Amino acid sequence: MNKIRVGILGATGMVGQQYVSLLEGHPWFEVTHVVASPSSAGKSYAEAVKGRWHMKKDIPAGVAGLVVQSVENLDAVKDCDFVFSALDSDIAKIWEEKYAEAGIPVVSNASTHRHTKDVPMIMPEVNPHHLDIIKEQQKARGWSRGFIVVKPNCSIQSYVAPLAALHKDFKLKSVIVTTMQAISGAGFPGVASYDILDNVVPFIGGEETKSEIEPRKILGSIKDGAFVYDESFTISAHCNRVPTIDGHLATVSFTCETKPSREDILVRWKNFRGVPQELNLPFAPKQAIIYREEENRPQVRLDRDTDKGMAVTVGRLREDPVMQWKFVGLSHNTIRGAAGGGILIAELLRANGYIG
Ligand code: NAP
Repeated sequence: MNKIRVGILGATGMVGQQYVSLLEGHPWFEVTHVVASPSSAGKSYAEAVKGRWHMKKDIPAGVAGLVVQSVENLDAVKDCDFVFSALDSDIAKIWEEKYAEAGIPVVSNASTHRHTKDVPMIMPEVNPHHLDIIKEQQKARGWSRGFIVVKPNCSIQSYVAPLAALHKDFKLKSVIVTTMQAISGAGFPGVASYDILDNVVPFIGGEETKSEIEPRKILGSIKDGAFVYDESFTISAHCNRVPTIDGHLATVSFTCETKPSREDILVRWKNFRGVPQELNLPFAPKQAIIYREEENRPQVRLDRDTDKGMAVTVGRLREDPVMQWKFVGLSHNTIRGAAGGGILIAELLRANGYIG
């Protein structure tokens, strides 16, 4: 089988590097184009990331020698089958629609189009049916092959699937979540070491609003070519930057319309269907939600890499004296919450015939 040709917009950044690294040896996708700012353009990829390559593995040999293209040079990328976008949001705003209009599907990590009315925001295990809106998106804009699909914010990954697993049967009412987010979530160089070492910063620009609103779109529905948000529950979020490298941890308290029992919750997490096994998506975790029985898990360092960094680990389920229940959730922010999550969306698109 000929591999599907993939471009990465923002290939030199923290998320872009994670895409380059994770896609090495992918059975369906091959990185053929790397794109970044005009200041990186014209250099080999290895040169462009010299001194700022942050992945544990070396730069894959097949990508090290690729010449970085400027995002403005759309013609150089036209023969890609699709692109991942890991551009800063203000840059994504200028370019993602131009790429889609030129016939190149875009799977984006940027927040730019998360609330565009006909752009699906996908968590493959939770709302794969939202891909149905792509045809309407293309029709409304006169695009024949291109489209835009986005991945939600990294901070919500550790609790949306566990809550979605309960919403259908028990109807969520209120959620209070406090996140402890790793420094890689701020890109490179990110937060200055002087600001974050020996410290917790109780502010991440825009993150609390994203955490409170994005789950409503993900759990929402499609009507007349636009998303209708699920307004039946409310989330209150506190987002903190903490001095860990990777892995966003969240402590979550919640109340449902019908109070589930402990057994109800654990059974639904255990049986949470995830992406259908028969699709054989290479990046799908074997089990999407893993419950740890130990009283002191999940822990960032011990659990963030579970199942290639794609599983959500939960633990410490206990009754809450104010709300009904509380638990701790953890996910890897640059894998599940960024590049790995984007790759899983692309695999789902390919399995459904949208790309390839
Ligand atoms: P980053 O490390 O700062 O990388 C930014 C990328 O954008 C670089 O490749 C950079 O290229 C490129 N860029 C900057 N200015 C540009 C311009 N004028 N034209 C074209 N390209 C330009 O950021 P990141 O952490 O990888 O985040 C990338 C996106 O993913 C952001 O939208 C972020 O919100 C989102 N995200 C990040 C995470 C995370 O955990 N880090 C998780 C989920 C989503 P040069 O190297 O040439 O400057």
